[in-house]
Amino acid sequence: MTKEEYKNIRDLAWYILRETKVNKLPVNIIEVCAKLDVKVRSYDNDHHFAKNYKNGFSIILNNSDKIIFYNKAIKNKYRNRFTIAHELGHIMLGHNTNENNKEYKAMETEANMFAIRILAPLCVLHEIKLDSAKELAEICALSKQASNIRFKKFEKAEIENNFYSDPKEAKLVMQFENFIKKYIKQKLKK
Ligand SMILES: [Zn+2]
Repeated sequence: MTKEEYKNIRDLAWYILRETKVNKLPVNIIEVCAKLDVKVRSYDNDHHFAKNYKNGFSIILNNSDKIIFYNKAIKNKYRNRFTIAHELGHIMLGHNTNENNKEYKAMETEANMFAIRILAPLCVLHEIKLDSAKELAEICALSKQASNIRFKKFEKAEIENNFYSDPKEAKLVMQFENFIKKYIKQKLKK
C-alpha cells in the first residue's frame, strides 16, 4: 500500500465522521450507516448466507441500494460493530468483493483500516489522554485484539507526536469537544 492510498482511507474515515456529525465515543456505527443511507440487516447461522459469509457481507442493489448484512449468531457486539464498519469500508471505498480477484486481500486490509479509523480516531484518543489498551477497548467498544493493535499504533503516534499535521484532524477534534471535556472530568474524579 502506498502512502497516498493510506492517506485516502484515513481521510475518508475522517470525512464520514464529520459528515455524519459523530461527536462521541463509542461511535454509533448503525447510526452512521443510517445517515449514509446504508441499510443494516442481520442473518442467522441457519441462513444460507452463513455458509459463505461467517461474519458479514455487503451488496449494492440496482447501483443504489446499499445493504450490509451481519451474522447475528455471532453473539459478540464488539465483533459485529467491527464487521459493520468493515463492510461500510468496502461500500465507501467502492470495492467489488464479489470478484474473486487477487486484489481481494488488499481490499480486506483496506476495509479493516477504514473500520479501525472510524471506530477509534487517534486524535480523539490523544485528547482524552488514553492510558491503556483496556481503556481503548472500553471507550471505543472494540474487542481486546483490535484494541491491542490500535493501542500500539496510538503509542507510536504519541512518541512521534504525530497529530494535527492535517487541519482536518483539528476540525474533527472540535466536533468531539464536549465529549472530551466530560470524559476528562470523569477520569480526574476516579
Ligand atoms: Zn471484507
